[in-house]
Amino acid sequence: MARALPSRLQAAARLSRQGLRAARHTRARDQAVTMPIPKTIPSVLQILLSPAGLAITPASGDYAATPCVSPSRIPKVTHELTLADRARLPVLTARGAVAERTVVSIATAGADIRIGGRAVVVAAGPCAVENRDMLLSTARSVRSAGAVMLRGGAFKPRTSPYSFQGMGADALALLAEAREQTGLAVITEVLDPRHVELVAAHADVLQVGARNMQNFALLAEVGRSSRPVLLKRGMSATLDELLMAAEHIMAGGNSRVILCERGIRTFETKTRNTLDVSAIPVLKRETHLPVFVDPSHAGGRAHLVSPLALAAIAAGADGLIVEVHPSPASALSDGEQSLPPRAFATLVRQVAVVAGSVGREVDVGRPQARADDGSEQPNEELEGGTDELTDLAGVALPALLDALANVRDDIQTVDREIISLLARRVALGRRAGRVKRAAGVSVVDPMQEAAVLERARELAEAAGLPYRDLRALLRGMIAISRRAQLNDEAADEAESR
Ligand code: PEP
Ligand code: MN
Repeated sequence: MARALPSRLQAAARLSRQGLRAARHTRARDQAVTMPIPKTIPSVLQILLSPAGLAITPASGDYAATPCVSPSRIPKVTHELTLADRARLPVLTARGAVAERTVVSIATAGADIRIGGRAVVVAAGPCAVENRDMLLSTARSVRSAGAVMLRGGAFKPRTSPYSFQGMGADALALLAEAREQTGLAVITEVLDPRHVELVAAHADVLQVGARNMQNFALLAEVGRSSRPVLLKRGMSATLDELLMAAEHIMAGGNSRVILCERGIRTFETKTRNTLDVSAIPVLKRETHLPVFVDPSHAGGRAHLVSPLALAAIAAGADGLIVEVHPSPASALSDGEQSLPPRAFATLVRQVAVVAGSVGREVDVGRPQARADDGSEQPNEELEGGTDELTDLAGVALPALLDALANVRDDIQTVDREIISLLARRVALGRRAGRVKRAAGVSVVDPMQEAAVLERARELAEAAGLPYRDLRALLRGMIAISRRAQLNDEAADEAESR
């Protein structure tokens, strides 16, 4: 025999039935359901009513239930859940709560961003906004590399009270200026419920950091905001706890939530945190919300950012948030995990390859705006990038060694690109060889080889490299191609014998 519910719960259940009926008849989101509720039971009632899209708020001595999510988001499974389940299970974030996956749209003058759609979205920028020049130059670099969102901390949650705490409101104005100049959407962290309105006035996306994932006052406040929220997983939080935190934001009325895996604390000390790659498919399976990954805070070292980012995209992440600094060795925070602009540009190209292999693409935004005078914006990548090796005087040896490791990583990547281009060139030479054999022309063509070498002078001038060295390089390339064609010829002859 079912045990009778305590009278407080009975009363709550009765009121919740009324609330559910009222919610069904409430079309407009802001229309209040007038339902006086005795002061003694609001918390029980909140558990019962939040899945139905009603929030309990104090009203003239009593409480009133107000719709807090759109009726289309009222989950169909509600009636099957027991009272205990409702407090335990995320409901609004659950995959079955809505028919379609949530796509968070953000529009700026330079981009129409859709987070959670087919395209992968990349946000990048410094850990903290340090000054105007560094922010604007980083914004331009990440924009030309293919990012569509600019990150940059204005209010910084630092482990030590003596570390740089961020520029505060001044940084917000600089972020807005960077958006104006580049068209990048702005994402920045809000630490304090009292700052939500201020941050929302400057940013396109509010970031709730790992340390604040269970700051319920902050979650309630961002839940009342009209800005999308990127919610980072706490460093020791389970995925259920992350989802419940998202549930708090959604129950407050804001359904534009992006979840973010940023590494969790494990026993491993070689990395700052451990990226929980499995969180991505789990969250994608259990929720309808987009999932971002922060490879920078996960690895904590620049050389880990690219492999972790690629793993995240391969595992189904909808986007990345990456720390980029024009001079990582002299960054005021998180320099050791920040990528210099050129390494970031390489990363975006690699992300595009991995995204393509899992049926997606990278959203690189609209073509970059021209400068006011109509000239093209400089392409820092082609021009050698912003020089992260300036201002090194007084930098400590470990930071210098880190900077050197970053540059060597870049060199390795470029070598790989050169070799793969060389392989393409050889393949083209072999194709030419087949045509030459079919036409009965000699595979070795001294005239053609001389013409290729002749181009060395022009190429050397364009690239600013010594003519002699470039000529030697071209000679080597010709020799590789000629050998491949002669081998093919010999194989053909052996076959026809
Ligand atoms: C950040 O993104 O700057 C940050 C502090 O991240 P997290 O909250 O993940 O540590
Ligand atoms: Mn950081």
